[in-house]
Amino acid sequence: MYDAVYRQKVTDLLQITSLPITLRNELGSRHSIGLPALSGEYRSVDGTRRYLLGLEDGRTVETVLMPEDGRDTICISSQVGCPVNCQFCLTALMGLERSLTAGEIVGQVLFVMKAHELTTGVDRLNIVMMGMGEPLLNLPNVLKATRILADPDGVGLPVRRITVSTAGIVPKIEELGREPIRPKLAISLNASNEEQRRELMPITRKYSLKDLLDACKAYPLRSWEKLTFEYVLLKGVNDTDADARRVAKLLANLNAKVNLIALNPGPGITFETPEPERVHAFQSIVRRSLPCFVRKPRGLDIFAACGQLKRQEVPTIELV
Ligand code: SAH
Repeated sequence: MYDAVYRQKVTDLLQITSLPITLRNELGSRHSIGLPALSGEYRSVDGTRRYLLGLEDGRTVETVLMPEDGRDTICISSQVGCPVNCQFCLTALMGLERSLTAGEIVGQVLFVMKAHELTTGVDRLNIVMMGMGEPLLNLPNVLKATRILADPDGVGLPVRRITVSTAGIVPKIEELGREPIRPKLAISLNASNEEQRRELMPITRKYSLKDLLDACKAYPLRSWEKLTFEYVLLKGVNDTDADARRVAKLLANLNAKVNLIALNPGPGITFETPEPERVHAFQSIVRRSLPCFVRKPRGLDIFAACGQLKRQEVPTIELV
């Protein structure tokens, strides 16, 4: 059954032909398998697709496919809504409805693979747990989903191509580090000092920047692994040269790289997006100390980009 569900991606118990028909009928009368139901699909001019997927209890969650030459990235959710109140993120405005089960996390990947006929081993697929929710506040299910996704007898995706991102739940970072099968770790830094981070990410009042960096220092990286730090640039707030120098200094002793994300705007978000020149100036300062990249926004026009997931049902927004 495991092979049928995860490797062959069968979605109906009756189709598991390796089981005797009487057993299939018996199982079918008591249990069901299957994928989340398509409840909305939005296509961006850049090829990105955002899916609104229906769960068994009628709630919906979002999954995003970002195709690129020779490489596709699927961004999946770990919770319906999010309990972390980051001031620049639209998902935060929803609050938390509930955590997803491991099946619902894996189901998002299977849904997209099936819809686009993507095959492990043939298509280069990356999975990022950077959709709705705070994955480390749903760690047991995130880990169970990772084991199924990374199992060569299951979905069969290399574990190095699975990344989990956290707002910085310090004790859970330590717990994650003790797991034998775990995704790569990305951390949403988003500020260059304690005070600024407390303003932008209230969660930091509980888990300080200092404790977060200590946990990062102690984190057991595998030989092929670096820590990724995401940094959302907010015009006039955390995007100055001084901020860039502080970021470089904070991360100097870590085996890390930085991904800069210029703010993706949205209704109810009061911050502004810095000009590209500012983003590049920031990047060149950080680059003197560690690798630093600018993340290209994907699916901005369909509410699919970082921080924009809020189950928007109108198809597109006007880009100015
Ligand atoms: N809760 C986890 C997983 C979500 S990842 C986490 O915080 O890491 C989503 C990423 O998008 C985070 O790095 C977050 O800081 C970033 N983000 C949130 N709102 C954004 C916005 N409006 N524009 C650009 N990036 C944003």
